[in-house]
Amino acid sequence: MTLEVAKALLRCTHIIVLNVTCLIMEERKILIVEDEKKIADTLKMGLSENGYYVEVAYDGTIGYRLFTAHSFNVIVLDINLPGMNGFELCKKIRLQDTDVPIIMLTSMSDLSDKIEGYDAGADDYIVKPFEFKELLLKIRVLLKRTLNQNIPVGNILKADDLEMNLDSKEVKRGDTIINLTAKEFQLLEYLLRNKNRVVSRADIAINVWDIDFDTNTNVIDVYINYVRNKVDKKFPNKLIQTYVGMGYILKED
Ligand code: CA
Repeated sequence: MTLEVAKALLRCTHIIVLNVTCLIMEERKILIVEDEKKIADTLKMGLSENGYYVEVAYDGTIGYRLFTAHSFNVIVLDINLPGMNGFELCKKIRLQDTDVPIIMLTSMSDLSDKIEGYDAGADDYIVKPFEFKELLLKIRVLLKRTLNQNIPVGNILKADDLEMNLDSKEVKRGDTIINLTAKEFQLLEYLLRNKNRVVSRADIAINVWDIDFDTNTNVIDVYINYVRNKVDKKFPNKLIQTYVGMGYILKED
């Protein structure tokens, strides 16, 4: 291999790695609107360390501008803000986007404020001072809710001839019963809920294992193999596919 070819290859690998990082980040974009710089910057640092891509606005108007210019997966809003307060901002966001999860962040703990927050369209509320872990947990729960979009019909999730009954916990392909362990069931449920959509290892780690993705562990790949052996191996059409460098997809023909 000539030096030029080697250099070109290295450049390509770099681009692929960057693209994969963007893909993972895509579903983890958070907007923080908070005028107390110290709090905002601490949150940004903590969330970035947990694999989220974070944009910060120190004022309501700028927050709104950022919201209209980019797409976010979660929005964290303070209430007392210069420019536009959190309630107004929340209402304006809801006029354009009814789905994006919004968490209100405030030092006011009165019930009436909470009601006003929910009325404005907030999904959750957190009262200052709060533990960073609490916010992280709320963000994860809300992300889980929005990412799991394949709604079961009569509590049955389907893809081609694969059926999962969420009540009886029975899994079948055609007439063949498939016995899964609890963890395998959860993993397959997550893939089914996100069918026809590539899910990254980071998505799986958070949603199935409730942990942050650790590149040193291959537990996800190991479990994908267990599930594949039971769900796909004996059948001609393979439902679970690997997207190299991106993750997995449960694909329906
Ligand atoms: Ca404030």
